[in-house]
Amino acid sequence: MKEGFHVHTNVSINEIKKVGEENYSVDLQPSGSNSANGTAALLDGVDLCLAATGRKPKLDGLGLEKAGVEIDEKTGEIITDEQGKTSCDSIYALGDCTSAAKLTPVALEQGHCFADTFYGKKPRLPDLESVATAVFSYPNVGTVGLTESEAVNKYGKVTVYTSRYTPLKNHVGQVETPIADRGKDYMKICVDTATDRVVGLHMVGDGAGEIMQGFATAIKCGCKCIFTYIFLHNIHVYTNINFNFFLLSRYKKTIGFNCWYTSNCCRRICYNAYCKI
Ligand SMILES: Cc1cc2nc3c(=O)[nH]c(=O)nc-3n(C[C@H](O)[C@H](O)[C@H](O)COP(=O)(O)OP(=O)(O)OC[C@H]3O[C@@H](n4cnc5c(N)ncnc54)[C@H](O)[C@@H]3O)c2cc1C
Repeated sequence: MKEGFHVHTNVSINEIKKVGEENYSVDLQPSGSNSANGTAALLDGVDLCLAATGRKPKLDGLGLEKAGVEIDEKTGEIITDEQGKTSCDSIYALGDCTSAAKLTPVALEQGHCFADTFYGKKPRLPDLESVATAVFSYPNVGTVGLTESEAVNKYGKVTVYTSRYTPLKNHVGQVETPIADRGKDYMKICVDTATDRVVGLHMVGDGAGEIMQGFATAIKCGCKCIFTYIFLHNIHVYTNINFNFFLLSRYKKTIGFNCWYTSNCCRRICYNAYCKI
């Protein structure tokens, strides 16, 4: 498979046609409740196509309306409080049928908290902030915490560090390929400017799903970007991929701009070390 992928939202696949031995053409048409935001397209030279359909709770026929359980009209999900209590005092809802992130560990933790609270005499609430998750595509998309726009909505002033760089392995044996054409990774750190606390961390690249787990723990512990050892003075594994996260925070912070210092630095290291292999 070739490197890289393109994401098309609010469309569905109308037709896939085989073109030659290895390629396909894909006809996309706007669809779904946000179809106005989708764009029709006929894509040529596609080697792999993934339809990520999404899911909605199937609540018809349960008689929830008769019990007075409120459902969010837009999303079709049951409205609950943090504990899972619905608008009917004796009915609780947990997991995928609510607005919680639709992930196995989220549903498990909600269920565990419910059992601890109501049957184990250990009342506690699930902490659903900074849940790490990944799309296991090639390369992975890994994410934990808030996106840039969510962070801006919540904190107002947010410092964003980004880097798009060529991981070292993509230089090996690539001497004929211009550096610009070698596969790139992407990283972003979103920081609440007022407190310097890391509130979101995102990556597109090999192993991003694995990498996010460790950073999720650091973020849960309230790690700060510049002033703590976690990012600034952490001695990292070299030459793994996620050392770039540590490099990112070493450079002058900028608000809303790309932190090119990092990209250049990585490129220089890569070039010196690997270009001639
Ligand atoms: C294809 C796919 C891949 C996924 N991959 C991942 C992944 O890699 N990582 C991850 O974290 N999450 C993944 N998820 C999401 C994960 O499966 C869900 O978030 C999780 O299972 C939610 O748990 P739940 O208990 O809320 O619902 P479910 O696991 O769906 O359990 C609900 C149960 O209720 C039953 N049920 C429904 N209606 C009724 C009824 N009227 N009466 C009695 N029983 C009923 C269902 O049969 C089902 O057994 C994936 C989901 C899908 C569909």
